[in-house]
Amino acid sequence: MRQMIAGNWKMNGTLAGLSAYASALRQGVEGVDLLVCPPFPLIRPLIEALGDASIWVGAQDCDAKRSGPHTGDVSADLLAELGARHVILGHSERRADHGESSTLVRDKARAASAAGLVPVICVGETEAERDAHETETVVRAQLAGSLPDGFSGLIAYEPVWAIGSGKTPSEDEVEAMHRAIRASLKKQLGEAGEAMPILYGGSVKPANAETLMRIPEVGGALVGGASLKAEDFLAIASAA
Ligand code: PGA
Repeated sequence: MRQMIAGNWKMNGTLAGLSAYASALRQGVEGVDLLVCPPFPLIRPLIEALGDASIWVGAQDCDAKRSGPHTGDVSADLLAELGARHVILGHSERRADHGESSTLVRDKARAASAAGLVPVICVGETEAERDAHETETVVRAQLAGSLPDGFSGLIAYEPVWAIGSGKTPSEDEVEAMHRAIRASLKKQLGEAGEAMPILYGGSVKPANAETLMRIPEVGGALVGGASLKAEDFLAIASAA
């Protein structure tokens, strides 16, 4: 199956920088699906800058409600209308900084799917949970709580301690966790869980991308810092 390389710009990027980024990305990479998730206000300008290139644009969050009196929140329906195709949900920075529970993530996933967006649901253990040998238990519980019945979308396994730290789990650890996630997905979703892409995220760089992308059950990457420079992002995509 084709791998997906997804960029999560977080709270970075400017309108001024878009056209250079987009024209670099428009060269594209054969045989890989590319997705870029900028901050909300840059979604539409990025889509326009990318033009007819087959590169998807997504959001980093959406609200669990479809519309109404929710000041400052953004609905999945509006994101879909703007042309977003995917939405990252339950990123550890939202779970930690905004107190998002797995239940809320599940409700957001429902709203996203109803609006026609493809959710990318993030799971992963903290360093303390890893040290306490709770990685699998934590991730299994996050999957059980965050995925609605009949979920269709992608999963991103992102160890919290690997995000932005330059540290990554060993190849064996990544493989073991992706296999554990696959087993949970099959149990929860049946046949739909068999082919659901499981991305790896956390300090993916051009230098380690090839190694990480060759690990069995790794369906691609969710890339933060290294997605901000088009050449780094393309170098990662070339390794997929
Ligand atoms: P990083 O972030 O690639 O900068 O480690 C990944 C993420 O948080 O999605």
